[in-house]
Amino acid sequence: MAGLYIHIPFCKKRCLYCDFYSGTDMSQKERYIKALGREWEMRRSELGNSFVDTVYLGGGTPSQLKISELRFLFDSLFGINWAQCKEITIEVNPDDITEEYIEGLVSLPVNRISMGVQSFDDSDLLFLNRRHSSLQAVKAVKMCQNIGFENLSIDLIYGLPGQTLDSWKRNIEQAVALKIPHISAYNLIYEEGTALYRLLEAGKVAECEEDIALQMFDLLIDMLGSAGFEHYEISNFALPGCYSRHNTAYWQNIPYLGIGASAHSYNGYSRSWNVANLRQYCDKIESGNMAYILEQLTFNDLYNDFVLTSLRTMWGLDLSRVKTLYGNDRYVYCLQQAFNHIQSENLVISEGRLCLTRKGLFISDAIISDLFYVE
Ligand code: SF4
Repeated sequence: MAGLYIHIPFCKKRCLYCDFYSGTDMSQKERYIKALGREWEMRRSELGNSFVDTVYLGGGTPSQLKISELRFLFDSLFGINWAQCKEITIEVNPDDITEEYIEGLVSLPVNRISMGVQSFDDSDLLFLNRRHSSLQAVKAVKMCQNIGFENLSIDLIYGLPGQTLDSWKRNIEQAVALKIPHISAYNLIYEEGTALYRLLEAGKVAECEEDIALQMFDLLIDMLGSAGFEHYEISNFALPGCYSRHNTAYWQNIPYLGIGASAHSYNGYSRSWNVANLRQYCDKIESGNMAYILEQLTFNDLYNDFVLTSLRTMWGLDLSRVKTLYGNDRYVYCLQQAFNHIQSENLVISEGRLCLTRKGLFISDAIISDLFYVE
């Protein structure tokens, strides 16, 4: 079993906070889509005998591709048994959604939509330089549902400059009222190199106070919990059974192949990442060369990845697997490192699994890095 990630690096306009690889020049779109098919052809053997269980079209903005372009792309993914592939997600922007577009998606092997809503508050959307309004987002969700496309996820961002607990509460209420089965919510991050980071450096925006951002996270957990959502990963909430299979596989260290400019891959013992440059990517692939840099993972890398990905989820870190996969010394080390956090009730051991407590969720990065093995 393996995942396939396909990166679509086109956006109509760039959002203030975004550090994903994408651009607004569409002139190379056709060339790029052909290169994706070629890369798949060159690399699909890397998956060995594993069948593709999930496909994820991310970006960038995959909904900047026309249905005919998506069809061409899917047709070039030879060898995938679509009947066996359980989850095929496409990321969309609300203002790309029309009835015709959704019907087009229904005619493709797509069964899940992840919509970049970010906020249901127009002033937030304006600040973030999003190209849709709150009303467009609501309409897009309803349009999908009316056509029968109910396997939806939305992204939300909190901790924006000037955002209040009340306005964040209204966002969550709106998401719940729309009966969306999966919600990913992220605290705004000021990534170096983004327009937002430059504004911060220039003193033109002020970061949301950490305490307020934590209260927003707390409110999110409470409100979504009351609405029946399971908090299955630090930033992800789903109604029972509606977890993202693609992301869950990633957190379980299941191999995935990433194709397209800047896409990452992981095969259980190495990871690779493609060049984050569309023209260089196409040049390489067209001339029959790989476009990636490969990194062999050390024993410690593998242990640290296992700790990181497991602890972020509600299923936690399976201690017996730590012992089986990494040996008794590392198992003992892990428990020693966890000891103080267990005493302080940031971590708990339940049924042989080490899990973050509600209190621990708020300082998860620090806890996880304490459990890392650093030489
Ligand atoms: S957040 Fe999404 S839509 Fe905005 S620039 Fe980044 S990839 Fe494009």
